[in-house]
Amino acid sequence: MSVVTVERKILQKNDEIAAELRQLFKKNNLKTFNLLSSPGSGKTTLLERTIDHLKERIRIGVVEGDVQTDNDAQRIAAHDIPVVQIITNGGCHLDAPLVRDAITRLDLTAIDILFIENVGNLVCPASYDLGEDKKVVIVSTTEGDDKPLKYPKMFRVANACILNKMDLLPYVDFDPVSFRKNAQKINPELIFIDLSAKTGDGIGAWFEYVMS
Ligand code: MG
Ligand code: ZN
Repeated sequence: MSVVTVERKILQKNDEIAAELRQLFKKNNLKTFNLLSSPGSGKTTLLERTIDHLKERIRIGVVEGDVQTDNDAQRIAAHDIPVVQIITNGGCHLDAPLVRDAITRLDLTAIDILFIENVGNLVCPASYDLGEDKKVVIVSTTEGDDKPLKYPKMFRVANACILNKMDLLPYVDFDPVSFRKNAQKINPELIFIDLSAKTGDGIGAWFEYVMS
């Protein structure tokens, strides 16, 4: 069997399980977000901010994906919400079977919004449907503004794009206009939210997106 065929079979199986997950999430009235980015773009910090701001209004749960260590899961757990960790042991993406196993450790009836923090990687996580409602790609101003050109698939499948670390914009060579233009060329439907998870500037638009 050729490599291409094997990969297609894996993705096909993944999509079947993702469809099951989508039904399960729907049955439990759960809204789900798959958070995708390179390492170090600020996913966990954004999640911490989001939990602190919204947890009195809505019940949040988190699936935390990491290659090694449960450092991020511990940071999330400190905010007193249910969190389950997936350690991929070198695996560079989450897939639907991993998420299906992980959520058996969550009471889905006690959660309204589930955030899935994917492994930091802009390549293969784009190919794996996790049954989520929205894929959100997070890019920070400390990265290159040509990210959409380098990783077009991620920007094609994303519903929303967060540009994080806007507080650092004066100090870096990042052109937000050209970034948006590059991303829009690939995905004209993409919603953009500029913010700083650190200072909180612009983060209200993200909360609105999550709650809408
Ligand atoms: Mg993280
Ligand atoms: Zn991978």
